[in-house]
Amino acid sequence: MDLEEFRREAHRLADWMADYLEGIRVHPVKPRVRPGEILGALPGDPPEEGESFPGIFADFEKIVLPGITHWQHPSFFAYFPANSSPPSVLAEMLTAALGAQCMSWATSPAATELEERVMEWLGKMIGLPGKYSGVIQDTASAATLVSLLTAREKASDLGINERGFTGKERFTLYASTEAHSSIEKAVKIAGFGKESLRKIQVDGKYALVPEELERAVRADLEAGLRPLAVVGTLGTTGSTAMDPIRPMGEICRRYGLWFHVDAAYAGTAMILPEFRHLGDGLEYADTFVFNPHKWMLTNFDCSAYFVRDEEALVRTFEILPEYLKTPEGKRVKNYRDWGIALGRRFRALKLWFVIRSYGVEGIRSILRRHLEIARRLEEEIRARRDFELLAPRTLNLLCFRCHPEGLDDLSRLNALNEDLLQAVNATGKAFLSHTKLRGAYTLRLVTGQTRVTLEDALAAWDLIVRLAEGLGKG
Ligand code: PLP
Repeated sequence: MDLEEFRREAHRLADWMADYLEGIRVHPVKPRVRPGEILGALPGDPPEEGESFPGIFADFEKIVLPGITHWQHPSFFAYFPANSSPPSVLAEMLTAALGAQCMSWATSPAATELEERVMEWLGKMIGLPGKYSGVIQDTASAATLVSLLTAREKASDLGINERGFTGKERFTLYASTEAHSSIEKAVKIAGFGKESLRKIQVDGKYALVPEELERAVRADLEAGLRPLAVVGTLGTTGSTAMDPIRPMGEICRRYGLWFHVDAAYAGTAMILPEFRHLGDGLEYADTFVFNPHKWMLTNFDCSAYFVRDEEALVRTFEILPEYLKTPEGKRVKNYRDWGIALGRRFRALKLWFVIRSYGVEGIRSILRRHLEIARRLEEEIRARRDFELLAPRTLNLLCFRCHPEGLDDLSRLNALNEDLLQAVNATGKAFLSHTKLRGAYTLRLVTGQTRVTLEDALAAWDLIVRLAEGLGKG
């Protein structure tokens, strides 16, 4: 493809992208493809000769598009959103055109310094207390792993990096039963062993019980083990429950434990002054992560990771082969030493575009709209006798199920709600996901899509009610 053709096709693609986003409601949110269908439509061998771009694009529309789940569809209510916005997409296009690999300051000074500045902005936007250094990671999962590795190396004085585990460390770690699976994954990858993770009981609101945390820490100390780190969650994946950060932080302080706070989804809410209280106690946190790629209009991937002890982080990861040495030495930040991968994408650009395009106040007003839609939907759910909420709404996630009068058997209720979810998703008009809360199959509906409206949410609710009635049990 020569640059003239590139120019022509890029203009066409820009139009296509704007049309796509404008007309996205015509697509089924969730594709109606069978496993293997797309694979079967793709030739087994790569082309020997180059193909024309129009031909490639025609296949994108014919083969790929029908197999896409439309995450930017306003009726995407599943999981947590991975929402996006036009300025973010434009930045991503530029990022691809620049094609910069931003591992070191020297490999793109602007990328490093822009990252430093936007991370400072983000810290201020969410009101992080005290002094933190920020770095963009690809995901919250990676950030949590980085945090636990830093805790490990700080506690072992870089001994495990040097010699590996001796078998005498006997570290233990703590998170609630509702903490995200990435915590357990990080514990496994960091070599602690899954059995060293204590899953602490939650209360009626699915938030960690601090007394149970302290009891577990003491029991481990008495057993001769070495409590190392606690992970608190602001906004659990199941129900956006908020762990009590201050009492957990106080326990960490009392016992000398590392404290990581995973606010992957809910951290964005702290941009709102009315939700700043979520951060109460964060001055105790050693590390904190939230994902602008979930709810802050910045397309995947972009995870904001903050660390108090920058030196402990860098000492854990730095490695300096001859071919990476640059004359600036320690005078600059080399973000390759702040995480796992050497190579790094230029992710700061999209954050910069998003924050500048909307302004903090513009982002706030979108978040408030999302929260208000959830509040209205909650009223609708409460008004029905055959539906019930299964967890308190802390932000814009609704956890509920259909519960017809007289049907109280848990397994039948679970089957009914599973059928209901499948029926809703099969229509392609809305996409919800589920979890289990205390064994109850729970429908999860999040109103966090960038352009979701109250009408979209009410239409989804009507659909749910109608299908529940259609199942003969609503
Ligand atoms: N932590 C929480 C609370 C989450 O809800 C999620 C994903 O939904 C994650 C961590 C993992 O996020 P990521 O996909 O960025 O690794």
